[in-house]
Amino acid sequence: MSYMNTSPGAWQSSDAPERVAQSFLSQYWDQQLPVDPVAIAKAAGVRVYTNPEMDRYAGWFYEDEQTGKPTIEFNSNDPLMRQRFTVAHELAHYALRHGARPRDSVQAFSLANYDPVEAEANKFATELLMPSAVVNGLIRIRNVTDPEVLASMFNTSAVAMKYRLKKLGWV
Ligand SMILES: [Zn+2]
Repeated sequence: MSYMNTSPGAWQSSDAPERVAQSFLSQYWDQQLPVDPVAIAKAAGVRVYTNPEMDRYAGWFYEDEQTGKPTIEFNSNDPLMRQRFTVAHELAHYALRHGARPRDSVQAFSLANYDPVEAEANKFATELLMPSAVVNGLIRIRNVTDPEVLASMFNTSAVAMKYRLKKLGWV
């Protein structure tokens, strides 16, 4: 079945972060849940590496000095759900053309982060991992309303899913 009915198309960095995430989903997502941010990044031409020596950092987006290729490194010591969010967040820095960014610590992912660039990246990441059309469709069409069930389908924390449902107006 098709979860998304948005048509593929060009994206512009001036678009809202959610809109850019939807464009990435329509172009690069295999429509399987949970959304695999590593597969999407790779399909979009971004190199993705694990890095076990990132210490207190969660992830980093940069363009390779020699090849210029967009690259994401993420901390493979973090819990899996964290890693998934980190990759989606770093992909946002590429997708939204934020340019070179400092390495992200976990604080960058906080909802209380008022750095507009980080906040934009978090909006992109949230839409990528929990696409509004898919969440809404599961609730409306399949009547899946338990946040714990939805969280496990999307492989997110229950807290993140509850927040998502609130933002989408379901609770
Ligand atoms: Zn960031």
